[in-house]
Amino acid sequence: MAELLSFRSLCAEDERHTILAGLSLHVDAGETVALVGESGCGKTMSMSALLGILPDDVEVTGGSIFFDGEDVLAYDGKKRRDRLYRRVGFVPQNTSDSLYPLTTVSKVMTDAYVHNHPGIGRKAAVERAAALLSSLGIEDAGRVLSLYPFQLSGGMKQRVNIAAALMDDIKLLVADEPTSALDIHIRRQIEALYASLAGRDRLSMFIISHDLGFVRSVADRVYVMYAGRIIEEGMCDEIFSAPVHPYTQSLIELESMNARDSNQDLPELVSSFSIPDRKSLSCAFLSRCSCRRDSCSCPVEYSRISETHFVRCVL
Ligand code: SF4
Repeated sequence: MAELLSFRSLCAEDERHTILAGLSLHVDAGETVALVGESGCGKTMSMSALLGILPDDVEVTGGSIFFDGEDVLAYDGKKRRDRLYRRVGFVPQNTSDSLYPLTTVSKVMTDAYVHNHPGIGRKAAVERAAALLSSLGIEDAGRVLSLYPFQLSGGMKQRVNIAAALMDDIKLLVADEPTSALDIHIRRQIEALYASLAGRDRLSMFIISHDLGFVRSVADRVYVMYAGRIIEEGMCDEIFSAPVHPYTQSLIELESMNARDSNQDLPELVSSFSIPDRKSLSCAFLSRCSCRRDSCSCPVEYSRISETHFVRCVL
C-alpha cells in the first residue's frame, strides 16, 4: 500500500520541555492506524503538529511530516490549511466545544464546504450533509440538521462531527479520543461506526486513543507511544496477542482489568516514578520497569521482532 502520512523523526519542544523526541510513524492508504499511550506522552501534540494547531509556546524543532507526498511543515498558516484541510478530516476530542452553539447543525456542517466550493450552492451542500448523516446511522437527518448543538446527545455530536469531517472528499480522517466522555452504550455504537467506516469505504484513519478496547476493534496497526517517541509498533494482533515491551504489556493488562469499561484515562502503572529525560537514548521507561537490567541505561535500539513488529527494548 502507498504511504499516505508519515512522521519522520519529529521533535517538538516548549520553553522547558521536550514534547516529541523523534516521533516516527506512518499511515498507508486504506489503513486504520492507532496511536496509544497515557496522557502526556505526546500523542495529541503529534496530531496538532500535523494539523498546524500546536499551542503558541510549542514549536517543531526537527524532523518532518509528509502527507500525500507533500512536506506539510513547508507551509504555514492559511496556506497549510488550504492545502491540508480539504484532504484531511478532523474529529476533535471535545465534540461539544467544536460545534458552534449559536448555529444549527446544518450551518455548522455546510458553511466551510460552501465557502471552499464556490460552485456548489447551499441547497446541494445541505443535501450532501443530510446524506452523510443518514449514512452514519441518523434516521431523521432533516430534523437533526435543524437542531442546535445543545439539543444533541453525546453520540449524536460524535456523528455530526464525523459527518462534518467527511463533507469534503478527504483522504484521511484524524480522530482524537473518539470514545472519550461517552457512556458504554454510546461508545459501542461509535466503535461500530468507525469499524464500518474502515471496512466500508477503506477510508484511511489515524486514531489517537487511550481506549484499547476501541483500538483493538478498529485498528489495522498500532503504535505505542511513551515519553515522546514510539516504543512498540505492530499489527493489531501482534500488539494485543504478543506485546513485547513491558509498558505495552502493562497497558494491555490494565485494559483487560478495567479500562475497557471506564471513561477514565489509563491509570498510572506505579505510584511514583522519575520523569524521564525525553532526549536521552536510554530507555525512558527504566524507572517504572520491573524487568530492567544494567544494559537498559545504554542507548536502546529499535529492533525488529517480525516484518511488521518492532520494539524499543532490550528484552
Ligand atoms: S529496555 Fe529495559 S527498562 Fe526499558 S522496558 Fe526494556 S527491560 Fe524495561
